[in-house]
Amino acid sequence: MKLFDAHCHLQDPRIHKISPQIIKTALDAGVVHIAVNGVSEKDWQSVKEMSGGNLCIIPNVGLHPWFIPDRTPNWLNNLKEFLEWTPEAAVGEIGLDKAPWASHVDYADQLEVFSQQLQLAKELNRPASIHCVGAFDDMIEILKSLGPFPAGFLLHSYMGSAGLVPELANLGAYFSISGHLMPVEESKAKKILQAIPLERILLETDAPDALPKSLNSGCLPIVAKEASILQDEGGDRSELAIDTLNHPANIHHVLNYVAFLLEMDKEELAQISYENARNIFSYEGSKISA
Ligand SMILES: [Zn+2]
Repeated sequence: MKLFDAHCHLQDPRIHKISPQIIKTALDAGVVHIAVNGVSEKDWQSVKEMSGGNLCIIPNVGLHPWFIPDRTPNWLNNLKEFLEWTPEAAVGEIGLDKAPWASHVDYADQLEVFSQQLQLAKELNRPASIHCVGAFDDMIEILKSLGPFPAGFLLHSYMGSAGLVPELANLGAYFSISGHLMPVEESKAKKILQAIPLERILLETDAPDALPKSLNSGCLPIVAKEASILQDEGGDRSELAIDTLNHPANIHHVLNYVAFLLEMDKEELAQISYENARNIFSYEGSKISA
C-alpha cells in the first residue's frame, strides 16, 4: 500500500530535530511522499533543505495567516524569488482564518496576503495548499475572481460543510482530510466525506498537529525511540508535550477512519487518494513529474 501525506509541517520547531527519524518511520510505513508546508519567511529555507536531502519530500512555501504580522516589507518579492529558484516547490500554507485565535491578525491584511499568494501560484502554475477557518464565503469569492487555477489547489484539513463541496469542486478544489475530522460528530463527518468526489479526496496528517485517534486504541504519538531524542536534546517530556505530537506514519489512522465512514475498502481508498495527490503535485518542475 502506498500513501501520500498531502499536508504537514516537519520543519516545525517541535519536531524538526527528529525529522530524519520521522521520515524513516513514514517510509517504512508505506508513506511514499510527504508535502511539507512552510508557514513564514523564516522556515522556507529549512523546508527547501529538507526537500533537498529527501526525495520523498514535496516542499511547499507560503505565508500562513497566523504569521502575517511577522512578514517583512519585501515578503512577496522574497516568496516570488524563492519559488522561481525552487521549481520543485508548491505554494502553501496560505489562507484565511476568522477563529478567535487568529484575532490578532488584521482581516483586511489576511484577504490581501491570501489573494497575492493565490495570484502568484496561478502565475507560476503551482498548486496551492489552503487553510480556511470560518471564512469560506470570502475564500470562494476570491477563488472565483482570481480563477481558474489550472494547477489546482487543495483545501487542507477540510472541515467546511457538505453543501459547499460541489461549488468548491467546480472551482477545482481537492479536499484533504486529516485527524481534525475525528472529533466531528460521525454523521456530519460522513456527510462531508460523501459529498466529496472520489477523484478529489486527499489524506494528510497536518503533523505535528491533529494527532488522530485510532479506531481501536487511543492515539499513536511519536514513537518512544524518537521521543527520547527530543528528551536527550534537553527537553522535558511534559514541556514538549511529546504525547500529543503527530507524524506522517499516522496517516494510516486517517485512512482507516475515512474508509470506515465511507464504507470503502481501505486499500482502494489508499490507491485513489494516492493517485489524486500525485495528480495535483505533478506540476512542471515537481519531483513527481520528473
Ligand atoms: Zn498546516
